[in-house]
Amino acid sequence: MDVEEYRQRGKEMVDFIADYLTGIRARRVFPAVKPGYMKPLIPDEAPQEGESYQDIFEDFQRIILPGVTHWQSPHMHAYFPALNSYPSLLGDMLADAINCLGFTWASSPACTELETIVMDWLGKMVGLPSAFLHSSKESLGGGVIQTTASESTFIALMAGRSEAIRRCKTQYPELSSSEINARLVAYCSDQAHSSVEKAGLIGLVRMHYLDSDDESYSIDGEALSFSIQKDRENGLIPFWVCATLGTTGSCAFDNLEELGNVCRQENLWLHVDAAYAGSAFICPEFRGWMKGVENANSFAFNPSKWLMVHFDCTAMWVQDAGALHRTFNVDPLYLQHENSGMAIDYMHWQIALSKRFRALKLWFVLRSFGVQGLQEHIRKGVRLAARFEAMVAADSRFEISAKRHLGLVVFRLRGDNELTETLLKRLNASGKIHCVPASLKGRYVIRFTITSPQTTVEDICTDWAVVKETARAVLANEEVRDIPMAPARKVPLAETRLRNAHFGTSLLLANSPMSPKIVNGSFAAIFDSNELFKEFERKLKLSEMDNSSPAVVRRRIKGMIMAGKQYSLDSRMDIVSTMHSNNKESVEEDDKDSQKSLPLMSEESPENEEATGSEM
Ligand SMILES: *Cc1c(COP(=O)(O)O)cnc(C)c1O
Repeated sequence: MDVEEYRQRGKEMVDFIADYLTGIRARRVFPAVKPGYMKPLIPDEAPQEGESYQDIFEDFQRIILPGVTHWQSPHMHAYFPALNSYPSLLGDMLADAINCLGFTWASSPACTELETIVMDWLGKMVGLPSAFLHSSKESLGGGVIQTTASESTFIALMAGRSEAIRRCKTQYPELSSSEINARLVAYCSDQAHSSVEKAGLIGLVRMHYLDSDDESYSIDGEALSFSIQKDRENGLIPFWVCATLGTTGSCAFDNLEELGNVCRQENLWLHVDAAYAGSAFICPEFRGWMKGVENANSFAFNPSKWLMVHFDCTAMWVQDAGALHRTFNVDPLYLQHENSGMAIDYMHWQIALSKRFRALKLWFVLRSFGVQGLQEHIRKGVRLAARFEAMVAADSRFEISAKRHLGLVVFRLRGDNELTETLLKRLNASGKIHCVPASLKGRYVIRFTITSPQTTVEDICTDWAVVKETARAVLANEEVRDIPMAPARKVPLAETRLRNAHFGTSLLLANSPMSPKIVNGSFAAIFDSNELFKEFERKLKLSEMDNSSPAVVRRRIKGMIMAGKQYSLDSRMDIVSTMHSNNKESVEEDDKDSQKSLPLMSEESPENEEATGSEM
């Protein structure tokens, strides 16, 4: 492609994108494709000779677009929002063209300097104390743009860990770093995002989950204090706490003020994960939940969720950048420049060396909308959620499963989990709206998040009409179903599974002993699991036809499961459980085999394996 063609195609592309975004309401929000749809449509090898742009773009429209989930659609209510906006797209177009890697100040001075300035802007917008700002004289801290909230949590855990080890070494000089590490213990709520668990898992520290309150789904200082005392008595070293502001399951808020006081008294690193809700703190009326933030060591939220800065962009602030430096500082000579030490080198604030010029799109968005424009966007989302909540609450077949906060409504059909699960699968299969489930203390709920800035009251009413009509059909199929008017008794998950073997087909299990909490939107949440079984049976039959011995067939099944390529996490679990019930003995035999052949796997590996799913 030469520059003249680039000029022409670029202009066409901007038009195409504008048409796509303005016409998105008319598209099915979740595509009508089956897993594996793309493989037969695309060659197995990359082309030897270059192809024309025309051909590539036509294939994009023919093959790719029909398999896209349209996250910018007003009828997209799954996960949390992941919005873009015109200024964000344009700002990033420039960043892509410049394509500098901002690891040190000198690697691209504007990249570093704009990031420190816009992070101060944003910090002030959400009401962070000046100790988190670069510009404040007495502050040792500041903001940095990270890739994801997960990464920010992990970085905070690493920083807390190195500080704790450093401190303990002066206290107990006879202990080695690894001996100290082995005693470290971190805390979060049982509603915390799976990335907090993952941080503990890969950071090799124990994570203790505090039981959240049965109604508010939040944790407070007392629960934390109690756990810390118990752990100290057992010779452990409490060092880190993650408070969640706006949990993924129900947008619950931990009691930051109380947790902060405990952390200050006990000298624990406090990290705040406000991935979704953080955007709302630009509105003063939503800042009550931030009370106590002055006791946090680190705070992160995703402008890439609700603030219309497209992915990736996670804003993270720390009160003491020294802790990050002490954790991540490697200073090879070739990276030193004349101003080392005088300017910020963001390479010491993050895991990777290089960073994208993400400050540019953030700067474009903040300037283009202004604080007021962004506040209006947030408030509109909250108003629409309240509107939807009111419609659900007025229908006695439904219940609101947790107090609504901000733009997330969590609801279910009264009665067994199975009803709500069926309702959700039918809703998603219709392609008219898209939602994902969550499990709140054993109750299967539908999460309905307001996402797009294009969403109107009419859209919400249309969505509700779809939900109501689908619910009517679901309930009509169930003849002997009594629907209690009072909230149903809470059913523990183990019992739920006994009562309904298929429950859990759309649950993402955590890797830890925690109960399943968040649910992903992988295809078992969307398709009927029977389809998956059919495909599985077909493969099984193929294996059987070639007269292999039962052991060979079993090994093949095991291989298919372990390869896990076609099957998303949750459907794999279904297959494993089906195999268990069909042929328990042989599976157990096979498990023994695999332990023999993989002597290095730790006891925990089967659990760890379950942690590979992704959620929002
Ligand atoms: C979305 C979300 C995350 C994960 O965000 P990533 O940026 O995708 O890592 C973590 N915590 C909470 C509370 C979230 O809502």
